[in-house]
Amino acid sequence: MYNLLAVSFGEIFLKGKNRNTFEKKVIEQIRSSLRGFSDIVVYKDQGKVFIETKNEYDMDEIINKVKKIFGIVLISPSIKVEKDVEIIKNKTKELIKYLCSKQNIKTFKVETHRSDKTFPIKSMDFSAIMGEEILNEFENLRVDVHNPDIYVYIDIKNSAYISSEKIKTVGGLPVGTSGSALLLLSGGIDSPVAGYMIAKRGVQIEALYFHTYPFTSERANEKVKHLAELLEEYCGKIKLYSVNILEIHKAIKENCREDETTILARRFMMRIAERIAKDNNIDMLITGESLGQVASQTMKSMIVIENSIDMPILKPVVGLDKTEIMEIARNIGTYETSILPYDDCCSVFAPKHPLIKPKLHVIENAESNLDVDGLIEKALSTLEIL
Ligand code: ATP
Ligand code: MG
Repeated sequence: MYNLLAVSFGEIFLKGKNRNTFEKKVIEQIRSSLRGFSDIVVYKDQGKVFIETKNEYDMDEIINKVKKIFGIVLISPSIKVEKDVEIIKNKTKELIKYLCSKQNIKTFKVETHRSDKTFPIKSMDFSAIMGEEILNEFENLRVDVHNPDIYVYIDIKNSAYISSEKIKTVGGLPVGTSGSALLLLSGGIDSPVAGYMIAKRGVQIEALYFHTYPFTSERANEKVKHLAELLEEYCGKIKLYSVNILEIHKAIKENCREDETTILARRFMMRIAERIAKDNNIDMLITGESLGQVASQTMKSMIVIENSIDMPILKPVVGLDKTEIMEIARNIGTYETSILPYDDCCSVFAPKHPLIKPKLHVIENAESNLDVDGLIEKALSTLEIL
């Protein structure tokens, strides 16, 4: 029935002069997300973006992809016709017939929006004319202006667009309009959610994964790659870096107290992440830390970990409960992959009784037994782009 998708933007309308840049980014993202479809045309008609397809059977798949694009708030499967009263009448009746065949409909309301003021009939009058026409054709239908079973929207622009459904989508800001950030992506539940939440605010994401191969498996690698791919459906292309920190863990094990291991390793991870971010003009870091979730995520631990670098760290799930984070993970489709049971480098080397209230001077003292710069350089020499 439908041959195109009308796209409504969200907050980007608030952005005044930036609106064009924002719109362009969304359109870019639409094109990239739908590159697998050969028959797509994306165009603008009087300020609104439309995605036209020659093959109506694609529509559900197109909707599923476009739903995930940040910056879009609503999409409406629509029918495009010439701006001719008779043609609009006929197509509208066809649409209602189609809708009646799929659901039980008793009441309707027509809403017309006329952007093209050269069109000779005013919106209210046009809605009334269409209402009459529908009542005459469908004896069982009544008008209900307050709570109709279906709406019939008619949008008059260079062409006329008929639709009945407005589907709510993810919202947010288009990716690439708010800077860039490096996501510390483990194989867990929290960090993919954290990346999603920051990308949603318009941030271009790159990702960094620390492993301790051969202590962590090739499958753990594959799992993180897959998580990055799942995030790409929302965030656009993600460059995924990996760094081997086995030598760092070994050095810590040999030279430091066991209960300090996690905090020390975390400080190394932050320093390496900051280096990679700076080398690639990335503005900030992102982690999936949630206050109090584990020993390394108490306030005291966070203070000592963050003290190792200057770069700001975004922690969008810091105030969420695990169950809330899990719910988002399920909604965005990363949960099932995150719970696959492959070892993470931190769990392999985790101490039995990690510090929960580390003191900065004690940790700095422990680091004085390590060749911090040398270990960082060694780890960076294993940097790979997956
Ligand atoms: P997640 O579920 O994302 O693994 P978590 O609750 O297991 O998080 P931690 O393992 O304590 O938490 O890690 C806290 C954060 O540190 C993670 O959310 C992630 O951003 C980062 N991190 C932990 N391990 C790694 C890793 N191997 N590679 C990259 N980042 C990591
Ligand atoms: Mg983890």
